[in-house]
Amino acid sequence: MPSLFEMPVTNVRGVGAAAAELLRKLSIYSVGQLLCYYPRTYEDWSNPVPLTPFLEGQALIKARLTTAFATSRLSGGRLLSNAEISDDTGSLSLVYFNNKYISSMLKVGEEYYFYGKIEKTLYGQRMIAPTFSPVGSGIGLHPVYNLTQGLSNKMMQRFLKEALKLLPAEVKDPLPQWIRDKYNLCDLRTAMTDVHFPKTKEAMEKARYRLVFEELLILNLGLRSIKSNKTSKAPLHIETDYSQEFISKLPFELTNAQKRTVSECMQDITKGKYPMNRLVQGDVGSGKTAVAAAVCYSVAKCGYQAAFMAPTEILAEQHYKTLSRFYEGTDINVVLLTGSMKDSQKKNARKYIEDGTAHIVVGTHTLITEKTIFNNLILAVTDEQHRFGVAQRTKLLSKGNSVHLLVMSATPIPRTMGLVMYGDLDVSVIDELPKGRQKIRTMLIDSSKRNRAYNFIRDQISKGRQAYIVCPLVEEGELPVASAEEYAAELMLSEFSDLPVGIIHGKMKSVDKENTMSQFAKGEIKLLVATTVIEVGVDVPNATVMMIENAERFGLSQLHQLRGRVGRGEHSSYCILVSDNKGEDSTRRLSVLCTTDNGFVIADEDLKLRGPGDFFGSRQHGLPQLSIADLSDYVSLSESSAAALDILDFSPDLSHDSLKGIRSSIKRLFKTAGTQMN
Ligand code: ADP
Ligand code: MG
Repeated sequence: MPSLFEMPVTNVRGVGAAAAELLRKLSIYSVGQLLCYYPRTYEDWSNPVPLTPFLEGQALIKARLTTAFATSRLSGGRLLSNAEISDDTGSLSLVYFNNKYISSMLKVGEEYYFYGKIEKTLYGQRMIAPTFSPVGSGIGLHPVYNLTQGLSNKMMQRFLKEALKLLPAEVKDPLPQWIRDKYNLCDLRTAMTDVHFPKTKEAMEKARYRLVFEELLILNLGLRSIKSNKTSKAPLHIETDYSQEFISKLPFELTNAQKRTVSECMQDITKGKYPMNRLVQGDVGSGKTAVAAAVCYSVAKCGYQAAFMAPTEILAEQHYKTLSRFYEGTDINVVLLTGSMKDSQKKNARKYIEDGTAHIVVGTHTLITEKTIFNNLILAVTDEQHRFGVAQRTKLLSKGNSVHLLVMSATPIPRTMGLVMYGDLDVSVIDELPKGRQKIRTMLIDSSKRNRAYNFIRDQISKGRQAYIVCPLVEEGELPVASAEEYAAELMLSEFSDLPVGIIHGKMKSVDKENTMSQFAKGEIKLLVATTVIEVGVDVPNATVMMIENAERFGLSQLHQLRGRVGRGEHSSYCILVSDNKGEDSTRRLSVLCTTDNGFVIADEDLKLRGPGDFFGSRQHGLPQLSIADLSDYVSLSESSAAALDILDFSPDLSHDSLKGIRSSIKRLFKTAGTQMN
């Protein structure tokens, strides 16, 4: 319906300047946008209930107006209109405030459906300002829209009825007939009519399914064209694969899964038809850093630059150290660049990055700021990828001419979700942990057992081990710092007054964080009280206990990540989840962690219970605003991505004439995201 998107909404009968102004607040400017303003939900008007004396709360009743309205003025000037309605089983008082016209809208002796809230008062039941509709017209599902002040649901319904009349008899459907046939989708005209005014529940479901499907399909195709690293540019290949040389220098033997992943990456960047676009998925502790280091090594040896981007400063610093250690005795220069470095340090780092002295640059999102100019960047690695948005990744890629992309994630991402997040990528899975890793024993306790947990920690520390306690915090960035500090202070004063306790949280200065971390790594700090800043990547093999307060506040995948901070060395390790939330859901959720250490199972459970929020993180994910689809809708996601593949098979660049509607839908959807299309 491209033309309807160019037609101002005032073309709809009944929508004047004032209404248009209100609709604008809902971002509705055109007839097309009005039609795509789908109901939030539906009221079911097909099953009225009898008006018994016990009836209370939201209800649909079918009743006759038995008295005329009596109108009086309340103190304060408000108008009160009262009348009685009844059915075979009872009667109640109907109340409207400030509605001058109500007595002319409802006629004595006529039967209506009333939908609204019933309250019990001293004088019997009453129903305040219900919506109503004459019997014979109002059966079925009634659409309920998100509204804005001054715009009632009734008005919206009227506007939409009128807007639907503007649909041409032959609506051009962006979905080709063969796709609709294959995936059993109704045509656009039917979908539009039935999504707003369905005669039956089945019709509504069919309409919604078709619209959800279409939106996800458009999203999918759009993301593929933005994010696919498969540009028409010929990839820059590096000439020699030096990864074996690196691997032979490591103090440990790589697992087979690591070796396989390294060689898949090397294949991509030495011979691939396109620049590499690879996701490496490996559970916590599977050794992703060493894999990335091997690839970076080859790049540097061939005289190019690699960028290694991490989501937090702690992690960036740790990677910087790890890589520096790995490359000791070689001529590879590793440079760190983070936001909290002193200006002079940043300036220096940037100079080395620009003149090519730096071969491998490790940093946070500071890497993608304008000031950072690379000499000859050919590889971008992003760690814990799900913490970054689409835009950030695209920016990093734009720092070079034809950059190979390696994204690493410990959060196992269901395939369909990965597609939405990363577009058309190749996946390597590190499905094997280094030898000798022990299972982390996980237990769930309530706070009455906290002291026992403390004793346990003390016992471990006396055996030479170290421990983490993660504090109850919501999110890095919005943390009530005091609570972590207070918690630590309390422990230092009481339980653990004789032991070196450290604290680390996101609001600390980078040098302080770094100091604390290195003291912990050296074993000078025995117990580290932390916020979720340690969630990702932190690696101290001597730490064997992870205690997490208010565990119910975290996502399962996040808890799994936190737990992955222990069990990294040869000692038995433990994770203690503390929660006083006795809710069945909460307990069931947390006990998943006690019974499995398989990150995929855990992520799946998370997706089922919490939706996709955890995968995208709370950060801006850069996806366009969807009007009907929901990214946790598994079935539609996978069906529509299958359809996307069918369409790409048919016309890889979507240039076929029959896909014109799809092309313009993609443009329209992504206009809202502000993402650049190529
Ligand atoms: P993650 O995949 O969670 O990022 P890391 O890369 O931090 O894991 O690796 C976890 C720990 O395992 C590090 O101390 C690393 O040096 C070590 N490691 C990695 N690969 C191996 C291996 N093949 N054998 C033994 N230890 C390894
Ligand atoms: Mg890691």
